[in-house]
Amino acid sequence: MIEVPVTLAGETYVVSIGDGLLAEAGARVRALRPAITRLPVITDTNVACLHLPPLVESLAAAGIAAQPIVVPAGEEAKSFAELARLVDALIASGVARSGLILALGGGVVGDLAGFAAAITKRGIPFVQVPTTLLAMVDSSVGGKTGINTTAGKNLVGAFHQPAAVWADTALLSTLPHRERLAGYAEVVKYGLLGDAGFFAWLEAHGAAALAGDSAALAHAIATSVRAKAAIVVRDPEERLDIRALLNLGHTFGHALEAECGYSDRLRHGEAVAIGMAQAFRFSVAEGLCPPADAARVEAHLAAVGLPVALPLPPDRLLGHMRHDKKKTETGLTFILVRGIGKAFVAHDVPRERVQAFLEAEARARATSC
Ligand code: NAD
Ligand code: ZN
Repeated sequence: MIEVPVTLAGETYVVSIGDGLLAEAGARVRALRPAITRLPVITDTNVACLHLPPLVESLAAAGIAAQPIVVPAGEEAKSFAELARLVDALIASGVARSGLILALGGGVVGDLAGFAAAITKRGIPFVQVPTTLLAMVDSSVGGKTGINTTAGKNLVGAFHQPAAVWADTALLSTLPHRERLAGYAEVVKYGLLGDAGFFAWLEAHGAAALAGDSAALAHAIATSVRAKAAIVVRDPEERLDIRALLNLGHTFGHALEAECGYSDRLRHGEAVAIGMAQAFRFSVAEGLCPPADAARVEAHLAAVGLPVALPLPPDRLLGHMRHDKKKTETGLTFILVRGIGKAFVAHDVPRERVQAFLEAEARARATSC
């Protein structure tokens, strides 16, 4: 088992990563809350079928009665309607402000349950038990919680750090391969943005991690969590440019997702994989990055089965970028690279440069989503 401490605002919580942690949940809850007898467990319909029974069993063995609250699977659960239902259910469960809530699921359950925990009784501590690779390496670290509105994703939320994160790599064995790959794109991101050694490790061992090798998975997850924690610790509430580095591949990626209507045609992680490849190609075109580094990035993403290009109409993509949260008056903000592991924030990138790049991409590769 690997333990990664995360210290934020003077408080430390531990992200534990290992094979079989779910079976220890009862003892771990007991260690956090010695007197607890009941525990609200928030999960979604898919995860409830697969992984709720062993959790309930582990809690029961420690003398704790689980109070399951099941939300619909999928992004739609991050809504005001589900939030209201969840908050009502939490209040009905009798959970005290000094009590505990457990979130068992992917990023959707973590974001929704974390936000409900943040606002119910003005804040109840919660534990994240992430069940997707994306949730283990990204959404369960950093304390961002929230829901979507009709105007866009993650527009309503709060910072609420978990009391602990228990990432059981065995839970990933039931995750559909496409979901695992989508999470893996975010793993690759940590190598590309600041850790060339980790990227080289992924070139050698990433495929084993994706195939379910638990030691390789634990190393990949722990390194990703350390990388995200190191960034978040330096910029907890996203006020400096540091946390923006986590957006490598995301300005291009968000435009692609928007153009595909946030549909199943393109998962977020797939868009990020394409976006990272584009950030490298754009950096090469701008004379910032050696072409060989961009070629290595594309080769690795493609080798594991992630897409590296999706040429959609440049004017449509630019239109979506105009609505990006990170834009300024004079230009667009991108995370660009001087090579693998050397990302930096580039403000005020002229629209015309981006347009010329996207047009060259569209000419070079003609397909659609
Ligand atoms: P998700 O939670 O929707 O999970 C993907 C699918 O896999 C769902 O159908 C789910 O039911 C299923 N699933 C989950 N675990 C499973 C398992 N072990 N076996 C089989 N099926 C399983 O999606 P996600 O990719 O985990 O998370 C995406 C969400 O995370 C988005 O809403 C995004 O905004 C959010 N996010 C938040 C942060 C943050 O900092 N808070 C960061 C990144 C992403
Ligand atoms: Zn992302």
